[in-house]
Amino acid sequence: MSTHQEEALRTLKQVYGYDSFRKGQSDIIAGVLEGKDTLAILPTGGGKSICYQLPALLLPGTTIVVSPLISLMKDQVDALNRLGVSAAYLNSSLSAESYREVVRQTSQGVYKLLYVAPERLDSSMFDSLSSQMHIPLIAIDEAHCVSQWGHDFRPSYRQLAGWIGRLENRPPVAAFTATATPEVSEDIAAMLGLRKPNIFVTGFARTNLTLSVVTGTDKKKFLRDYLKQRPDQSGIVYTATRKEAEEVCDDLMKLGIATGKYHGGLNDEERAEAQEKFRFDEYRVMVATNAFGMGIDKPNVRYVVHWQMPGDVESYYQEAGRAGRDGEESECVLLFEPQDVQVQRFLIDRSTTDPDRKSIQLNKLYTMMHYSRSEKCLLQYIVRYFGEADVPECGKCSNCLDQSAMIDTTEDARKALSCVGRMKGRFGISMAAKVLKGSREKRILEFGLDKLSTYGLMRSWAEKEITDLLYYLVAEGYLRISEGEYPTVSLTAEALPVLEGKLTVHRRQSAAAKRRETAGT
Ligand code: ADP
Repeated sequence: MSTHQEEALRTLKQVYGYDSFRKGQSDIIAGVLEGKDTLAILPTGGGKSICYQLPALLLPGTTIVVSPLISLMKDQVDALNRLGVSAAYLNSSLSAESYREVVRQTSQGVYKLLYVAPERLDSSMFDSLSSQMHIPLIAIDEAHCVSQWGHDFRPSYRQLAGWIGRLENRPPVAAFTATATPEVSEDIAAMLGLRKPNIFVTGFARTNLTLSVVTGTDKKKFLRDYLKQRPDQSGIVYTATRKEAEEVCDDLMKLGIATGKYHGGLNDEERAEAQEKFRFDEYRVMVATNAFGMGIDKPNVRYVVHWQMPGDVESYYQEAGRAGRDGEESECVLLFEPQDVQVQRFLIDRSTTDPDRKSIQLNKLYTMMHYSRSEKCLLQYIVRYFGEADVPECGKCSNCLDQSAMIDTTEDARKALSCVGRMKGRFGISMAAKVLKGSREKRILEFGLDKLSTYGLMRSWAEKEITDLLYYLVAEGYLRISEGEYPTVSLTAEALPVLEGKLTVHRRQSAAAKRRETAGT
């Protein structure tokens, strides 16, 4: 252990009362204390705050923490003050008088940490304040907001690089986020002008979480039964829309379950009250849209149920990751139906008109859909998506538990691949499924697809099951889906040996059994 690490561990015990660092924390802190730029990607609940707070305590001067979330800033500053650390924040929630007071105290070097909203940085007032301060470290929270490839781009973050550049002695910069794929990480480093940053991607495998995907179920009944089995536990149900949040909440209240709701249609007071009641276990269940969560730190959330598939893996894992922040075993259940994809597409269409943005979001949506349909370890899927390698199968997600033997599905795969090959990359998955099914749909006939030799080759299958098989072949790398608004499907080089009879394809027996159950429907 380096002296920096020993010093940090002592402070961790003294100030926070914790005995040991979580995965990654110690190395990140050591790097920051050595003055290196840092980009740390740690999942929600991974303990990012300590990675910059602790160095701030050990370094002389005032560390600046840039954070986009006003409520989070207040929570963190209150928590620090309770620990006896002098800290304050500057954001639009302060009265003019309080604002001036914080500025005055800052210039006198009173604080160890000053939290600042990004839009505050771009002013001559802040430039002159910065020039009077000794800033040993700049910490940037939610750093993915600087990247338009990320899922929560905020233009105000673009001012950061400018402000950092204007500082006389540029201090080390440490950027933190819970959600960055490798390409987003690169973009963050570039946008913030990080200098040879130490990059840490760690702790994504939250091994206390049991992930599962449930498809083809009566959701209301599922949720009722699920909650009935967990009478003493507290959890969150995420819905895609406000309307659904209202409906699910009403349904649970009718069952006598103490349920709160939280979404963008409620006023600040109603939301604060719901959050408070949930935090103190007056509500057992919180039904919410994605408006709920940034900054909630309730340790004993035992389950997070997603009523619908969210629009990207980042959001899913961030929301699901609100379960089990205390490290105890917790569950994350995704209720997935194929039509969820349409709902999310609609939300994307509504949210942006910028074609680049739209195409980024659609690709994220397709990845989320692949997760929902994957037959491999779910935890591994997510962890790999975030760029962390070498994580073993979790052994307990719904796919890992589905221990059924793999069966040879080469014959079916060959039919499907040969059909896609004949469609020459001009159509999407659903058209390929319809051709294999032998659909008489107008579009099929118009394009003359009924003339293909593979038309109707899987007539005895349910169309949905053909679709599942095609997605399985995508997940296994035999098929590729193009990017963009109207994705088409085509063969990859991997498909050739299968078509030539040189390679076999295997699938879990249960997936094939499901097909038999629904065949002919
Ligand atoms: P993040 O910002 O990464 O979502 P936080 O910094 O809010 O996570 O930390 C999540 C929770 O874990 C907090 O309650 C925090 O006090 C706690 N925590 C962080 N590091 C440790 C540690 N080394 N030991 C015990 N608890 C920790």
